[in-house]
Amino acid sequence: MRRIDLHLHSTYSDGSLSPTDLVKLAHHAQVGVLSLTDHDTTDGITEASEAASSYDIEVIPGVEVSSLYRGKETHILGYFVNHENPQFQQHLTFLRQSRHERIPKIIDKLKSLGVTISYEDVKAVAGRGSIGRPHVARVLLKKHYVPTIEQAFSRYLKEGSTAYVARQLPDAQEAIRWIRDAGGVASLAHPSWVRNSLSELQVACQELKTLGLQAIEVYYSAHSSRQTSEYLNLAHRLDLVVTGGSDFHGSTRPDIDVGIGKGNLKIPEQALEQLRTCAAGNQKASP
Ligand SMILES: [Zn+2]
Ligand SMILES: [Zn+2]
Repeated sequence: MRRIDLHLHSTYSDGSLSPTDLVKLAHHAQVGVLSLTDHDTTDGITEASEAASSYDIEVIPGVEVSSLYRGKETHILGYFVNHENPQFQQHLTFLRQSRHERIPKIIDKLKSLGVTISYEDVKAVAGRGSIGRPHVARVLLKKHYVPTIEQAFSRYLKEGSTAYVARQLPDAQEAIRWIRDAGGVASLAHPSWVRNSLSELQVACQELKTLGLQAIEVYYSAHSSRQTSEYLNLAHRLDLVVTGGSDFHGSTRPDIDVGIGKGNLKIPEQALEQLRTCAAGNQKASP
């Protein structure tokens, strides 16, 4: 039996494995279909596809776009997106730019709190990846300012903490449109982030659906079995396609494994087939 994992991060964003090593690991985890969904970049897809050609693994082009929905950071996954679309790449470049601009501001705030790190330190950790707060967190850990990555976020980096800096983000509506314009299927990532209450989430999904959302991430490492069945029902009620994945980041989130999340993740073949059908419909509809 092959496994499916449609939510994975590599060193092209804040994951700790290169796409090649990630694909190798996926192979050992019996994953037959995967999607690399790095934050605001599709630059790792070529490497992942090349690595996958040595195994019997299908790579679905993916991305995880950061956006705002009613003032809250909301991630929209894009699947089967035509990542060579120049317009789409322009949008992603804008997003990565806003990531870069945020880092020096965070560093200034940290300095005023007596925590001294440099932009070069963060850049060195981020490497070729799309730079973000997890890279700042790793520097703070390395320099012994915090004992864990979680502490870096809770003390300094998360919304409401002392060195938090808001990022300029597109509306969820825009993020969805970018993905749809590039022929992709837009799926709401880790929906519990968006709204805790199911009824509020339903309202949000209804609204996002009118804006072009076509899917929701029902299967996810952090979901309880109750959440999974609630979201599955929600998807059925709203006629949304179901997606799923581990959100594997490598050593950054050591409790999550490729293909199985925390051990109980299983994305059914049927969900993948519906996603494929939806994507094929989009491709047909686009000029
Ligand atoms: Zn996310
Ligand atoms: Zn993710």
